[in-house]
Amino acid sequence: MKSIVVFCGSSEGTNSEYVEQGYVLGKTLAKHAITLVYGGAKIGVMGAVAKGALDASGKVIGVIPDFLKIREVFHSQLTELIITQNMHERKLKMHELSDGIIMLPGGYGTLEEFFEMLTWGQLGLHQFPIGVLNTDGFYDELLVMLRKMVTQGFVKQENYDMILVDDSVGGLLQQMENYKPLPTPKWIKKEQL
Ligand code: AMP
Repeated sequence: MKSIVVFCGSSEGTNSEYVEQGYVLGKTLAKHAITLVYGGAKIGVMGAVAKGALDASGKVIGVIPDFLKIREVFHSQLTELIITQNMHERKLKMHELSDGIIMLPGGYGTLEEFFEMLTWGQLGLHQFPIGVLNTDGFYDELLVMLRKMVTQGFVKQENYDMILVDDSVGGLLQQMENYKPLPTPKWIKKEQL
């Protein structure tokens, strides 16, 4: 993996571990010479991940829609800041720039971005490893819900297994390195990829 897109909260959350582990993730990506692609903010868990990578002299690309680029919150010291017209263009750009996806603790925005990328993976539109950094069990209940979707016949087991979960940065990156993607579904034509 040369670059990873990280989805996480624009808030810090109430448990200091969210920000602390975000910082460690940024630092670790930089140490592995993996470019961080993220939403471009300097606030919340997002800001902590960027700071970790920048403190370790890593490459950081922020992708932010024009309407969110308020001077107080966008990060002005990134390697590159890409401004998009809207949220849809932002997600597409982030996807184009990355070959792996990691979700950290966050809110609606985080889940929305994660599930869109997961859905694209399920459709075979990409074969990136998809990781969840389950800091202090933050996503335990969500994972229970997703397993219910499997037992209730809405999600295939193999599509659940696409989600790599770990509570440590090192463990998650290792799982992502070892990930063997599912074959592309036959009904997706090459030109749609
Ligand atoms: P949430 O998990 O709801 O905090 O949402 C995280 C997402 O919120 C980010 O990926 C962005 O799409 C969006 N977001 C909210 N505030 C900002 C900001 N100031 N700069 C960039 N993105 C932001």
